[in-house]
Amino acid sequence: MKTETIAIHAGNHTDATTGAVIQPIVLSTTFERLEDGSFREGYIYSRSANPNRTALENVLAKLEGGEAAAAFSSGNAAGMTVFQSLKPGTHIIAPDDMYHGLRNQLKQLFEGILEFDFIDIDNTEVLQQHIKPNTGLIWIETPSNPLLKVTDIKKVIAIAKQHGIKVACDNTFATPICQQPLALGADLVMHSTTKYFGGHSDLMGGALITAKNDDWWQKISNVQQMGGAIPSPADCYYLVRSIKTLPYRMRGHVHNAQLLAEFLNTHTKVERVLYPGLPTHPNYSVAKEQMNGFGGVLSFCLKDGPEEANRVINKLKLFTKATSLGGVESLIEHRATMEGPDTKTPFNLLRISVGLEHIDDLIDDLAQAMR
Ligand SMILES: *Cc1c(COP(=O)(O)O)cnc(C)c1O
Repeated sequence: MKTETIAIHAGNHTDATTGAVIQPIVLSTTFERLEDGSFREGYIYSRSANPNRTALENVLAKLEGGEAAAAFSSGNAAGMTVFQSLKPGTHIIAPDDMYHGLRNQLKQLFEGILEFDFIDIDNTEVLQQHIKPNTGLIWIETPSNPLLKVTDIKKVIAIAKQHGIKVACDNTFATPICQQPLALGADLVMHSTTKYFGGHSDLMGGALITAKNDDWWQKISNVQQMGGAIPSPADCYYLVRSIKTLPYRMRGHVHNAQLLAEFLNTHTKVERVLYPGLPTHPNYSVAKEQMNGFGGVLSFCLKDGPEEANRVINKLKLFTKATSLGGVESLIEHRATMEGPDTKTPFNLLRISVGLEHIDDLIDDLAQAMR
């Protein structure tokens, strides 16, 4: 089946007892045992499994083309689960511009437990130099946040496979609509479902999707169920609901982002635009090859520095000044001050999560603010 159909049907089943077309929210934390001690549908206690979470995990697995999925209470909880599933002493290679929340998690919570290097992963020589006998995982994030760097997924996987190293990809910026890392050979995909899956800036969630239901996945599944960083049945329901429109929303985000990137790219006050859909992007050809759309986030740097960035951001009327991304409304943020003192983000950079408003209104607003 095609993506649009999976998005609508894979996470829903009509209720057998009432005939409700939309699967109801099951709030019960516990499930009744039958006379022989068994459980009707295998549900025992909601931390281990819940019908709404199963529905969500089904649609997530199908959309990414994986064998199984696990849903979490946030993207960071999903990332945390990956790191907790590794043997202590495992070495991880991660990008030098890894999502700052996960970079800080590794540095502050896994110091002394795991080893890690943050490097320019797309540089083959640098990557090969950093592989050690205990390297167990290469973490990639593409396009990256907020520099929109594009990693050649196939190239990294080929190197990882030579050494028997697993590859996990943070696919938050692309979503399975624009990019499917498992089809390119990745072992695991991670998402902050807070972003495009939720799509309306009103819930937090995370997900992991595995290519194979193997021993590593069993460990991950154990961390999910024993660690308990699970989403509520209601949040699972809302996610399943939002996912039904994900393919259409992504198409709108991609369309608007491309036109906004092109507008900014020719603006006299702009130093450079970072968006994988522009032929001027250093990895445009790789992006074109591995993506089915370039995503809905772009960053741009202003020639007149941080003061101009600050002036522009405060003159905008339609864009809301806030962090996060993936919602139907456009957001803009000064990323460096959000990321803290060890940020690699330039101070003249603004990041936009391009929403689903009419593109003419978005361009008009930016044009007036940059005058
Ligand atoms: C937001 C985000 C995360 C973290 O997800 P939360 O839901 O905020 O915990 C991880 N990676 C990327 C690329 C993100 O944008």
